[in-house]
Amino acid sequence: IARNPNESEFHQAVKEIFDSLVPVFAKEPKYMKHGVLERISEPERLITFRVPWVDDNGKVHVNRGFRVQFNSNIGPYKGGIRFHPSVNASIIKFLGFEQIFKNSLTGQPIGGGKGGSDFDPKGRSDNEIMRFTQSFMTELCKYIGPDVDVPAGDIGVGAREVGYMFGQYKKIRGGYEAGVLTGKGIGYGGSLARTEATGYGTVYFVEEMLKDQGLGFAGSTVIVSGSGNVSTYAIQKAQSFGAKVVACSDSNGYIYDKEGINLDTVKRIKEVERKRISEYVNEHPHAEYHEGCSGIWSIPCDIALPCATQNEIDELAAQILVDNGVRAVGEGANMPSTLKAIDIFLNNNILFGPAKAANAGGVAVSSLEMAQNSMRLSWTFEEVDAKLHEIMKNIYRNSVKAAENYGHPGNLVVGANIAGFIKVADAMIAQGVI
Ligand code: NDP
Repeated sequence: IARNPNESEFHQAVKEIFDSLVPVFAKEPKYMKHGVLERISEPERLITFRVPWVDDNGKVHVNRGFRVQFNSNIGPYKGGIRFHPSVNASIIKFLGFEQIFKNSLTGQPIGGGKGGSDFDPKGRSDNEIMRFTQSFMTELCKYIGPDVDVPAGDIGVGAREVGYMFGQYKKIRGGYEAGVLTGKGIGYGGSLARTEATGYGTVYFVEEMLKDQGLGFAGSTVIVSGSGNVSTYAIQKAQSFGAKVVACSDSNGYIYDKEGINLDTVKRIKEVERKRISEYVNEHPHAEYHEGCSGIWSIPCDIALPCATQNEIDELAAQILVDNGVRAVGEGANMPSTLKAIDIFLNNNILFGPAKAANAGGVAVSSLEMAQNSMRLSWTFEEVDAKLHEIMKNIYRNSVKAAENYGHPGNLVVGANIAGFIKVADAMIAQGVI
């Protein structure tokens, strides 16, 4: 804490991992001897840079860009780029740190990284987005490459922004290095099913948790927060498994549609018109819109899928969910539950799928995109989706096994953290103190 002051999100992420690793360190003294914890929690590199750009009225703006290259012991740094005004070193470091373990859990050869900027894309024209993104990549391109560091999208960065980043990288570097970014458009090296992967993967993971208890999505009532990339495809997959999704949200408020959300309307409002979720009730007047995001957790449900942002479920929201009879929580977003909220879920025997495991499907398919780019091949949607499904099942099984082996059966927070850690830690020891 003294070394990284004012980085509360980073401290939170590190504390969760370190607490989970207590039984590993008790059993395996080699990790202590080789200083693995001290090394793994210090990024290999944190790059910050100026991002100047000019708006449509000729006014100059300066934002701050970040890339954390956290760990490269099992593969090139891999992790998304976030454009959101809340972005700072603490947010980027917490995301990059978690990415190390998540990427390891996927079983793919990818290290941990993350990046972004405090740029706010809301209300900006397409030209402003392009100019900003080009300026961002003009600096970032010095530090990335298909075998070095491979960014992707995250909050505020979708196919449009990845396209502009790819174009600028190609212009500056010359040549066509398809594998430098993932989440690309299908026509120029993107993988089918990447857009759907995080949301689908979260639902696949939760389905595994439910199955073990003789339960399933069919006939259940589900709440999904957010209405962006992860939320959209979590809603779609949950609906296809027979669930009724009754609520979703954006950063202004949430909608509650007792009859089940019409996903086509949500997609058109958010993806095409880029408007607010409140518009939904204009077309579906029987639904309700409420200002403010946290109230979404007061709606009774069987399954909650937080898919918006960090710390969106606090202690109070967790207790309300439990009191209302929630059976399973699957984290589609990164660190959406506070540490106290997680304790409440675990102490009440709620099936809890932590982000590192439950939302790893996106980066797993990003890695499959890199593989296709290297082979100059394109797999079909069905092929990629089947691989994704298998990866999510493996992550679930490995997390369950690690939790059992280290004395915490059923605790997937501990299980996922340990399973992700061991592979990276062993690689760090094998490669010496570097
Ligand atoms: P998007 O930008 O596509 O969507 C984010 C959604 O969350 C939007 O609906 C946004 O609303 C809402 N939101 C943002 N901030 C807040 C807030 N403070 N309170 C409530 N709602 C908010 O991002 P993604 O769907 O890509 O990412 C969502 C989460 O999933 C993030 O935590 C991300 O790190 C994580 N994730 C994403 C992956 C991916 O493949 N995209 C992979 C793994 C994790 P608004 O429209 O108002 O901004």
